[in-house]
Amino acid sequence: MSTPNKEKNCLDCEHHEIINDNDPEDWFCDDDKAVICKLTPNVDKDTNSIWLADNQNFKCITVSCRPQNLKKESSTPKWCPLKLETSTYN
Ligand code: SF4
Repeated sequence: MSTPNKEKNCLDCEHHEIINDNDPEDWFCDDDKAVICKLTPNVDKDTNSIWLADNQNFKCITVSCRPQNLKKESSTPKWCPLKLETSTYN
């Protein structure tokens, strides 16, 4: 099992998921990806949005990301629940 609270990148954490986030208005970006955190509900979920990432049940770490940039754009955010949990006890 990983220790996500010590990870600097969400792709190294077992709680991330990579989803398709193609741009419906630009064929060139139809293989874009998004990374979501399966521990964090998306409180801003917008079911009317044309953007797949906005319709997710979970909060996005990165959106509209070229596949080759996923690692570079998935640094662990400040709102990471595991970071917050750790800071409570420190
Ligand atoms: S935000 Fe935290 S818990 Fe969520 S995927 Fe990233 S490292 Fe894991």
